[in-house]
Amino acid sequence: MQDIVNEIAEQIKAETDRGKVADYIPQLAAIDPNQFGISIALPTGEVFSAGDAKTLFSIQSISKVFSLTVALGKMGDAIWANVGREPSGDPFNSIIQLEHEHGIPRNPFINAGAIAVVDAIMMGHEPKETLAEILRFVRFIANDDTIAIDEKVALSELATGHRNSSLAHFMASCGRMKHSIEKVLGVYYHQCSISMDCVQLAKSGLFLVSGGVNESTGQRVISEQRARRINSLMMMCGHYDGSGEFAYRVGLPGKSGVGGGILAIAPGIASIAVWSPGLDRIGNSKLGTKALDMLVKRTSWSVF
Ligand code: GLU
Repeated sequence: MQDIVNEIAEQIKAETDRGKVADYIPQLAAIDPNQFGISIALPTGEVFSAGDAKTLFSIQSISKVFSLTVALGKMGDAIWANVGREPSGDPFNSIIQLEHEHGIPRNPFINAGAIAVVDAIMMGHEPKETLAEILRFVRFIANDDTIAIDEKVALSELATGHRNSSLAHFMASCGRMKHSIEKVLGVYYHQCSISMDCVQLAKSGLFLVSGGVNESTGQRVISEQRARRINSLMMMCGHYDGSGEFAYRVGLPGKSGVGGGILAIAPGIASIAVWSPGLDRIGNSKLGTKALDMLVKRTSWSVF
């Protein structure tokens, strides 16, 4: 396994077409695209890493998997009254589908869906408490209390987040937001601004590898059925309108973020985190996807 990650890191380092870093969030625009990290966490607790696997990055939309898990824990299937479970086929920040479907986002992994999930889990609490709950959960699943939020990234998103404000206002116009838009977006931007390295991120996915149990700590996080369902949502919706292409090339449940990270789950086998900040046209990590493609070719871990 160590040989495989070393080889992948070496090959990816040599790539010249590295994609384009997300520049609509000023703090992310400054990140060096020449970085690449990979970590594979096994249920035994072993972790195999290569490249810049210990460099922190902004997990961005990967956090949507964690906030959805928190929402399912708090309110169970009632969350599906607020958000759908279908692939969107649209960009991550698209407003078009919201209008057609009366303010109900297609799935929890597009921006509108994740904002609706935050609105649902706030349940009248202050943003600080909701955020603390999400961060606590992430620290618990990764078994790492050092995980923190990058306040600078959160403020940078807040300052430039006109599109997300539009999505939230549109949902509010359909009578679908229970809390003030400002408070909900405050939580949303902070959850997206959680910083993790590949090792931490790979570990955080272990509960989705073994039917809801993090075998490395022996803790049950969620039920087996819920783990299966979250994996299926990641497979269908985890890469926006590139989800079909990701399933075709990699064949694993995965969630990307515009920080360049991808969390992928090989059910029953491993949790994998890759990070390369340059994005493809759709907004998914260009070389992260390539690295996962290489990994499944070497290991046959595709679920298909
Ligand atoms: N915080 C980002 C946004 O709201 C998340 C997008 C992403 O990672 O795809 O635009």
